[in-house]
Amino acid sequence: MTSEDPRRRIPRTDHLLAHLGVIEAGQRLSESAIRAVIREAQDAARVGSVAPDEVESLVLDRLAATSGSSLTPVLNATGIVVHTNLGRAPLSTSAAQAIADAAGYVDVEMDLGTGRRSKRGVGARQALLDACPAAEDALVVNNGAGALVLATTAFAFRREVVISRGEFVEIGAGFRLSDLMTSTGAHLREVGTTNRTHLRDYSEAVCDRTGCILKVHPSNFNVSGFTSAVPLAELRPLADEHDVPLIVDVGSGLLHADPAIPDEPSITQALEAGADLVIASGDKLLGGPQAGLILGRSEYVQRLARHPLARAVRCDKLTLAALEATLTGPEPPVKAYLHADPARLKERTERLAAAVGAPVVAHDGRVGGGGAPEVPLPGWAVRLPETVARDLRLGSPAVVARVHDGACLIDLRCIPEADDEPLAAAISQSVQRRGSGRPSGLADDRIQVSAEEGLT
Ligand SMILES: *Cc1c(COP(=O)(O)O)cnc(C)c1O
Repeated sequence: MTSEDPRRRIPRTDHLLAHLGVIEAGQRLSESAIRAVIREAQDAARVGSVAPDEVESLVLDRLAATSGSSLTPVLNATGIVVHTNLGRAPLSTSAAQAIADAAGYVDVEMDLGTGRRSKRGVGARQALLDACPAAEDALVVNNGAGALVLATTAFAFRREVVISRGEFVEIGAGFRLSDLMTSTGAHLREVGTTNRTHLRDYSEAVCDRTGCILKVHPSNFNVSGFTSAVPLAELRPLADEHDVPLIVDVGSGLLHADPAIPDEPSITQALEAGADLVIASGDKLLGGPQAGLILGRSEYVQRLARHPLARAVRCDKLTLAALEATLTGPEPPVKAYLHADPARLKERTERLAAAVGAPVVAHDGRVGGGGAPEVPLPGWAVRLPETVARDLRLGSPAVVARVHDGACLIDLRCIPEADDEPLAAAISQSVQRRGSGRPSGLADDRIQVSAEEGLT
């Protein structure tokens, strides 16, 4: 190494650590995280991929782009409302605020009046009961799968869960509810066939080994053709006769029937039709945080609440805060996106298309992982060349579009209107970077999201 070796001009670590911008980053990042960014930039200069005098600005840029969490906020341009890969339901502003408020010390298990210990989750429980008067009692656990594990353990350990063969659901990423239930020590007593199950199938199966009768809503597939399932109300007398709980896993967490997705069962409907307990997720169509909701008859809810396993599936203060705020606050984003006005969507899409110089195509969105498989949500998309999709994902803001049939489709259904402009800028940048000019080919067929997208 000679004295002219440019590597000698690489800024030293202590010099960089003393930079005001680096000191400011210390508000958000640990010293070791900052040192790692510095080391990386110095190494880049050592191997010659950046000039030594660029190291300082590289460090500042990287630090500015680094947050405490590696999770990157994205604009969901897929048209899929509950997109499991994108974190399912985006929280309402009031739910996000409730999480921030509960982040420090909070009276989650203390009565501030008496200074004594109080019951955990009373606020969220009350909000659920107010929102769903058909339920006598409610319990919130970590997620839907946790609620199912708790219920099958409490009611059917070494006993039988009577369930129709048509309701064996794989919920995504290879997880099967049947495996989940048998892992608790329950035995599955499968009744009927994939397409048809009758009341007599259930009545022949229910016996003194039965722990519960379970109905699972096929939330991500449809069975059509020669089919038959037993309505809940018809199972009620059977459950009474044998004194076993009738449990329904509705999946989606709709509190009340929604006319936009008429076949999607709600918690209220299931309770009114005779379910003892209903299980659902908090982060699907309810539009709240990840949670498992258990609503129904007090006697059964309390049995679950007292079970030792309840402690292993309990949810944290942040979830309780966000769930309560979702239930008591204004309409959460999921509801707004589900009911987005097609005329307004078209207007926004046309404005975006004009801004980026691309055509508009008819495009159906989907409910996604929350339920209502196959139900189209009619809307529109801006059609871009497929090649920009990756740039959009890696851009700022990160945009996840729908890649389909050789095109990159931008559906505005799940984009807050306030983000239309940053989105247009991100697209223009990506299209320019690709040098792909004006995208061509105006598809006139209505493009639909396939049933499996967004589910896993
Ligand atoms: C999504 C779903 C589950 C799993 O719920 P999580 O909250 O993801 O654990 C269970 N059952 C049904 C029917 C579902 O749709």
